[in-house]
Amino acid sequence: MLKVNHDRANRIFNDALVWDNHLCLPMNPARNLASLPLIEDCHRNGVDVVSINIGFGSFSWDQHLQLLTQMRQWFLARSERFTLPATAQDILTARSDGKMSIIFDVEGAIAIGDDLTRIRLLHDLGVRWLLLAYNNGNKAGGGCHDDVDLGLTAHGRALIDEMERVGMLVCASHSGYRTAREILDYSRAPVIFSHSNARALRDHPRNIDDDMIRRCAATGGVIGINAVNIFLGEGDASGKTMAKHIDHIVQLVGIDHAALGLDWAPKDDMAEEIATLAHLFPSGFGYEKVQTGGAELLPDMIEQLLTFGYGDEDIKKVLGGNLLRLAQANWMKAT
Ligand SMILES: [Zn+2]
Repeated sequence: MLKVNHDRANRIFNDALVWDNHLCLPMNPARNLASLPLIEDCHRNGVDVVSINIGFGSFSWDQHLQLLTQMRQWFLARSERFTLPATAQDILTARSDGKMSIIFDVEGAIAIGDDLTRIRLLHDLGVRWLLLAYNNGNKAGGGCHDDVDLGLTAHGRALIDEMERVGMLVCASHSGYRTAREILDYSRAPVIFSHSNARALRDHPRNIDDDMIRRCAATGGVIGINAVNIFLGEGDASGKTMAKHIDHIVQLVGIDHAALGLDWAPKDDMAEEIATLAHLFPSGFGYEKVQTGGAELLPDMIEQLLTFGYGDEDIKKVLGGNLLRLAQANWMKAT
């Protein structure tokens, strides 16, 4: 039985569209550029679509644009292997051509400032989701490490309006609980938690409670499980533990609302950023011990889901089908 599940897991992994909705490369531009070949490893490891972040927290607009520009140039210069998809159909075409699709994301609205036209510009350049508050509160809303979460502001609502208008998904990961609930209540389009695990299985403020999971599903959105050890809860970033978080979500709200946002990052760069940006990563929450897993964990995760009794098509939804559905319905551009 075990061998059968192992072989079946590999077959599902190979057949499925695999979409990792969050990956972090170094913010330092030179190191960011030097790390881009790692994305080729992701493709070899079976990932068809990846969302790479172009900035987080208090990084400036100029810094976001610099990283976005240099990454776009790097991928566009390798168009025989990579696509920057405008539509969900582009992703399917790229996959059948053996190419990887690259999209981008932004963690925190500080870089947008008061200039909402930046949302449209980022969308045109391939940014497909943005979260409003990264651990600390800002003008848009509260963060998950705020002492007091003051909630979604008028500015935050204006950002959501513009994102929905241009076809950029709103993400509520890293937000405070009050802000996340107010985002979920206010939005008319599906809201995602791009990379958040279940607090019922691991008590950490970066994880989300069952009420948030239910409300997210009610918008039509998805919860992307990450492969970060301190958010998974058993001291390791393992596929088996990821499967338990996925199963928790599926038991609560069904198979259409679980996805992947692995949050993989190069280890040394991540440790340095966490140490340098202490205001974003308060002590006492395990950030100094962070380790992240990548696509190499997915066959084990699939095998565990098979052991739980999941069917092939259900697992394919988690691996990428659910995010593809959102792209098909919500990536439309404003006219
Ligand atoms: Zn994050």
